[in-house]
Amino acid sequence: MLPKQGKAVAPKRVNCLNISTSQGDIKYTLIYSARRSLALIVRSSGAVEIRAPFGTCQETIEKFLASKTCWLKKHLTRLTSVERSDPLPETPELEQRRARIFTEQYALACERFGMSADEAPRLRWRSMRTQWGSYSAKTHRICLNSRLIEAPVEAIRMVCVHELCHVSNLHHDKAFYRAMDRYQDPHWRDVKEQLERRFG
Ligand SMILES: [Zn+2]
Repeated sequence: MLPKQGKAVAPKRVNCLNISTSQGDIKYTLIYSARRSLALIVRSSGAVEIRAPFGTCQETIEKFLASKTCWLKKHLTRLTSVERSDPLPETPELEQRRARIFTEQYALACERFGMSADEAPRLRWRSMRTQWGSYSAKTHRICLNSRLIEAPVEAIRMVCVHELCHVSNLHHDKAFYRAMDRYQDPHWRDVKEQLERRFG
């Protein structure tokens, strides 16, 4: 299963820093943690976070942020225009869209594994409190969290691929992560982190 929050060493948080860029001032929260690389995260509220390995100097962080300014501005604009943080009201239209998008992304994921529709686990979705998805070897079914419809399609695909990796690797062991690196989109770790930040 893909838990909504991964286990992590308690991160150290530094609040409310500011950087002046060619695109104007950007406020951001800097969080140091036991990670290997820098990451830029934009919450659904529009809040900007930088995640950095322990010991990263301020200059490196500012250079990193400055290099992402264009992407950041574009993303923030998109965020305020399309994305939303409240759960979407359940309507027949939403369920229709969910069925279409989940089925499409699941089919794409199955294709990567070379699984025919007959071989692939049956796909279901329901409201889930602590997981984005699950795979049951007993029933050969994959279940997605209904709220994933609010996430970008790459996140839906990432969860589908994660659960499909469980078909031959039940546990989150080395073999599982080898399969993940083989079948996921190259930037799946960022997609996962973004999903956790938005809905975790
Ligand atoms: Zn899992």
